[in-house]
Amino acid sequence: MIKLSDLGEFGLIKRFSQQFLQDLPGEITGIGDDCAIIPLNNKEALLYTTDMLIEDRHFVRDKITSYDLGQKSLAVNLSDIAAMGGNPKSAYLSIGIPANIELEWLDEFFRGIKDLCLQTRTYLLGGDTTKSPESLIINIGVIGIAKLSKIKRRSTAHPGDIICITDVVGDSGGGLKILLNNLPLDNDAVYLVGRHNCPKAQIEEGKWFSEREEVNAMIDVSDGIESDIHRLMESSNVGAEIEINTVPISKILRKLSEKYNWNVHEIALSGGEDYCLMLTIPEEYVDGIISKYEIKFKKPLYKIGKITGLTGKLTFIKDGKIIDFNKHGFDHFK
Ligand code: ADP
Ligand code: MG
Repeated sequence: MIKLSDLGEFGLIKRFSQQFLQDLPGEITGIGDDCAIIPLNNKEALLYTTDMLIEDRHFVRDKITSYDLGQKSLAVNLSDIAAMGGNPKSAYLSIGIPANIELEWLDEFFRGIKDLCLQTRTYLLGGDTTKSPESLIINIGVIGIAKLSKIKRRSTAHPGDIICITDVVGDSGGGLKILLNNLPLDNDAVYLVGRHNCPKAQIEEGKWFSEREEVNAMIDVSDGIESDIHRLMESSNVGAEIEINTVPISKILRKLSEKYNWNVHEIALSGGEDYCLMLTIPEEYVDGIISKYEIKFKKPLYKIGKITGLTGKLTFIKDGKIIDFNKHGFDHFK
């Protein structure tokens, strides 16, 4: 008998999703990408995404301010809208509140959400409020709008494409290690914890890439490069090669990894919750896009590998040699 833990989060989604995908009208994109896509007419589409955060699973209440938790709960959804090149419009918050939460805590939580709504011109339009027996449960859904012909998907990467990411990775995973191990909060540690507790959705970057026809595929990095490249490979029916030495890592993460003897590559590849964007661009266009991106955003776009025709095969290369790296990103059932 197959157990849930054998299937894992993604195996489970695959198991139930087929029956819902099979009779979808052709123009609708359902389960499988960062957002669902519902065309409104022949020019525009609605994007929808939702994410749940459960206390002691996704956050520990005394390790994050309620203001930051409010912002993070919204930001992780905005990141999925960014991954398709959309513009967020509205948010819907359902919250299950245990008895031991103070009113002041909730006021700050909502202030965090409100500030990010203002910054991103997203309107909180509804939700649901209930009591929860023990844990705080937060679910936000976000609706975005996109030009139908400009939407970027996970499923359209091509062999030969260069894989790029928009930020250093692993800071958030390092921040989580600091929190879980109660390590001293010096300036470097505080920086990494900030990167874990306050991720920024890359909405402007996502929209900019959506305007570039040369970009073939895009996904946001929520579970870690190693896990999210698998999602992209599966959807696009391709393989990938990641050159470990080109994966960008911050100086601060390197420094603390040395100090605490962490495997910095493992954190960078599978720490998760980076919320940057990963995209694939044909080799002939990649340098052109990188220089335009750097002029526009005043920061680098990093090449980390290549899409291959070897369906389902992910290879890691370090110092010219293939290496075995099988630490997987976060999976809720494994
Ligand atoms: P992301 O990390 O971008 O939020 P996930 O990897 O969590 O996406 O989910 C993969 C796909 O499965 C998405 O299209 C998501 O909407 C869908 N999905 C996940 N859980 C469920 C569920 N319980 N019911 C329907 N669709 C789901
Ligand atoms: Mg996503």
